[in-house]
Amino acid sequence: MSHQIPIKIQMVDLYSQYLHLKDDIDAAMAEVIKTSSYINGPIVNEFAAELAVYNNINHVVPCANGTDALQLAMMALDLKPGDEVIVPSFTYVATAEVIALLGITPVFVDVDKDTFLINPELVEKHITPQTKAIVPVHLFGQCADMEAIMKIAHDHNLYVIEDTAQAIGAEYRFSNGSKKKAGTIGTIGTTSFFPSKNLGCFGDGGALLVEDDDLAERIRMIANHGQQVKYYHDIVGVNSRLDTLQAAVLKVKLKELNSFSERRNESACFYDEQLGNYTALSCPRRLPSSTHVFHQYTLICNSFDRDDLKQYLAERGIPTMVYYPVPLHLQKAYQMYGYSEGDFPISELLSSRVLSLPIHTEQNKEELYYITDAIKEFLTVKGLN
Ligand SMILES: *Cc1c(COP(=O)(O)O)cnc(C)c1O
Repeated sequence: MSHQIPIKIQMVDLYSQYLHLKDDIDAAMAEVIKTSSYINGPIVNEFAAELAVYNNINHVVPCANGTDALQLAMMALDLKPGDEVIVPSFTYVATAEVIALLGITPVFVDVDKDTFLINPELVEKHITPQTKAIVPVHLFGQCADMEAIMKIAHDHNLYVIEDTAQAIGAEYRFSNGSKKKAGTIGTIGTTSFFPSKNLGCFGDGGALLVEDDDLAERIRMIANHGQQVKYYHDIVGVNSRLDTLQAAVLKVKLKELNSFSERRNESACFYDEQLGNYTALSCPRRLPSSTHVFHQYTLICNSFDRDDLKQYLAERGIPTMVYYPVPLHLQKAYQMYGYSEGDFPISELLSSRVLSLPIHTEQNKEELYYITDAIKEFLTVKGLN
């Protein structure tokens, strides 16, 4: 093919992104170091307030990471052993992990084949008298069917915790035309600032998005050792904080979040354009009900071995990732809940057929052509074009 191997291709290119923002980030970090206010410095609240404005919600409660955000949400809603929480079987482990840790019972539900998102019709079927909450995951950067999920939650008096770790900045459109940001529709939204997330810091970080004042206060208290007044502990809490240095980085990056999402969408559109006409693979389906922030661009390999393509690309210097190779109900750690192969056929199928391509804010046309040309070449070799 006519395109040469560009500079090293990466799944995400955090260093180049940093170089574009270097002056502002360096200055913000230097300022924190000057004050040495590393824990709960003023920038933490400034960033939280700006993220709340961005999402048009009353409260953002920062915490140590996205997994903690989920745990804090479940603790604040007083979910207890014996309670059931509905989660998709095709997601990152953190979603189910905190449920298990708290002694709550995760109830897995299969996802939709085209969107990778929890299937609301199946959610309804899994509700029992013990069900307390639904955790939709806005997987890969697109909102789950929140209108249907909120209706089910309302009908059955359930909490909704939106796992927004992969979809910060995405916007959901209701059928009446009104719009809300991902993570601001349910009872609580949770997110992660893990470096490779769409809004990532230089380490671990997370936050909860909350509308209700009392609930936000309760979350703050639990995240701070269960205290409102220092050394007076009213409830059993945890220690979960966002470092001031991380908040300083995030405050700079938040200003760029919309342009980050645009850059990711440009790459996604290019992939769609180049690969959309092959029946051997499926490009990610976009829903009219949500914008997509493309945390991942994930292909479904319909009529060839996913691992063959993965290897073919690897040999040409193109990294790809499998998110996720084993659905949660088949993970060893979750065998105690008694699920077996065949329980969630879509999740199982996707686990064997998905392949995520490099997508980030720093990709150029040359790199993108190189990737899609290699995929087309693979399809030609396999006689699938
Ligand atoms: C990354 C992620 C989390 C956990 O976030 P951490 O900050 O790594 O703890 C939770 N859920 C989903 C869907 C994620 O992608």
